[in-house]
Amino acid sequence: MIKLTGVSKVYGRGQAAVQALKDVTLEIKRNEFVAVMGPSGSGKSTFLSILGCLERPSGGEYCFDGRQVSSMSEDELAVLRNRRIGFIFQTFNLLPRFNILRNVELPLAYTGVPRKERRERAAALLTRVGLAHRLQHKPPELSGGEQQRVAIARALVTDPPLILADEPTGNLDSRTSHEIMAIFRELHKEGRTIIIVTHEPDIARYAGRILHFLDGTVVREEVTVQ
Ligand code: ADP
Ligand code: ADP
Repeated sequence: MIKLTGVSKVYGRGQAAVQALKDVTLEIKRNEFVAVMGPSGSGKSTFLSILGCLERPSGGEYCFDGRQVSSMSEDELAVLRNRRIGFIFQTFNLLPRFNILRNVELPLAYTGVPRKERRERAAALLTRVGLAHRLQHKPPELSGGEQQRVAIARALVTDPPLILADEPTGNLDSRTSHEIMAIFRELHKEGRTIIIVTHEPDIARYAGRILHFLDGTVVREEVTVQ
């Protein structure tokens, strides 16, 4: 599904240039569950941004589903991001003034799915993550764990094969974190490909494979026993 060959990323130029990634070569197969670990500044978020086509590599090649990302137009990349990839963030990134049903529906807004079906899909996903009784609530009325469930439902509404999560449990207590990870485990069992960035070894252990980053590159890989 994902193939990186000698990928690098440089931010800025001249004296201010920062090499965030260097020479990253790896493959991630469909239905893998991968955790990305490493110290702050080691390139984890940059790696995820490139995988999610939010940024383009400065060098090297990124193939997603057999297509060269560097050869795709901005419009093609936007379609890929919207239909093939679900994003989940540490800070949830929900719209505080909209109720959670509308938050979850939103990624379907410009996909041609009729309004009634958008609503039904959003409600079904919110039910699945245990929030059927909260559809009319707004994000600030919910706990952190509940907001992350909403964010997961939103990421799933386009039924993407790939889920990218940057520190999804970073703002949650330990018990809530494990509840959220139990949802990721289910999504993986359903056949989705999951890649999460985390600082916490307990959380990384949900993945079958752990990539350790240091100074912009993968220095060690670990296969976990499930
Ligand atoms: P991590 O997620 O492991 O903390 P990042 O990928 O955020 O690491 O950052 C890797 C390096 O790239 C750091 O030195 C960071 O300061 C730098 N960096 C990240 N994003 C930018 C940016 N938009 N502009 C300039 N430098 C950046
Ligand atoms: P947690 O135990 O995860 O920290 P909270 O203590 O924040 O959760 O919230 C406990 C319950 O109270 C949750 O079900 C949440 O939805 C509800 N709640 C929290 N803040 C508000 C609020 N401002 N308005 C309405 N309900 C709230």
